[in-house]
Amino acid sequence: MLVVMQSHATEEQVRAVCDRIESLGLKAHPIPGSGRTAIGITGNNGAVDLGVLESMAGVIECIPVTKPYKLVSRDVKEDDTVVRIPTPSGGVLVGGGHLAMVAGPCAVETEEQCLAIAERLKSTGVRLFRGGAYKPRTSPYSFQGLGLSGLKILAKVRKQFGFGIITEAIDNESLDLVEEYADVIQIGARNMQNFSLLRRAGRAKLPVLLKRGMSATLDEFLMAAEYILSEGNYNVMLCERGVRTFSDFSRNTLDLTVVPAVKKRSHLPILVDPSHGTGKRHKVLPLSLAAAAVGADGLLVEVHHQPEKALSDGMQSILPEEFATLIAEVRQIASVVHREVN
Ligand code: PEP
Ligand code: MN
Repeated sequence: MLVVMQSHATEEQVRAVCDRIESLGLKAHPIPGSGRTAIGITGNNGAVDLGVLESMAGVIECIPVTKPYKLVSRDVKEDDTVVRIPTPSGGVLVGGGHLAMVAGPCAVETEEQCLAIAERLKSTGVRLFRGGAYKPRTSPYSFQGLGLSGLKILAKVRKQFGFGIITEAIDNESLDLVEEYADVIQIGARNMQNFSLLRRAGRAKLPVLLKRGMSATLDEFLMAAEYILSEGNYNVMLCERGVRTFSDFSRNTLDLTVVPAVKKRSHLPILVDPSHGTGKRHKVLPLSLAAAAVGADGLLVEVHHQPEKALSDGMQSILPEEFATLIAEVRQIASVVHREVN
């Protein structure tokens, strides 16, 4: 259910409608738009009695939201959501015409490794650094990440180079720590439907980067995001990272068609990860350009200064110099589709 307020409705009127919704045992989500505020209602298992809300001051109308997802839907919020990621060197905007570049190694391996990569990346102009301190690995015998000491290394990268830090939380316990050390919480493909983790991320203060599950439908992807918004965290960025298909020449099939499909249905920004999406170094540049061309709001690229020595995902990691070329070329495509790279 959605309550649409008049464009000149006052803050008090919006507050009064929210209070009334909450008094009915439901949750109110005021969503300011460029022209007017709408108030999404969640927590209702059946139809809500509209009469009481429709007659309140400042209300235009109450409309049922028929889609299974509500708060992530464009029906509820027409304007693109722009997520602002605070970094020590100023905020980075994602969405609404702002294409954000994110780079870094798959895993935080050592302090020397991270600082070496960060130093090389700094000169490319990228402002968001991503590396995993907690790694969800297929095999329990593979490198699992450094955990808390990895987060401390990432904090050092932020301090020394001014990057905003994105890193993955794999369970509620690691999310508590990621929240303390990072600027964005990543939820990985394998956890896209870990509902208790999604709810915990919904109560976090940081923006969330939610990766698409490797066999998730678009509805499942958007419903996963809905879990986060329903808890009150509206700063959610989606990320396409390839899905499993019969195609056997790449690690995953990067589903770029999902980008315009998401944009039609949702106001949330969507980034593309061409590294996991292809699994092959030589495919990262062309697919990055393609992602920018279809309207991605950001790119997440794995970069390593010594990919042959990487403890995870070396095959799909590009060199910092290659990333510099990639940014320059993405900038050209972005300008054609009216996006500003940051
Ligand atoms: C990652 O981002 O390093 C990662 C593990 O990705 P995904 O969750 O998409 O597999
Ligand atoms: Mn990886």
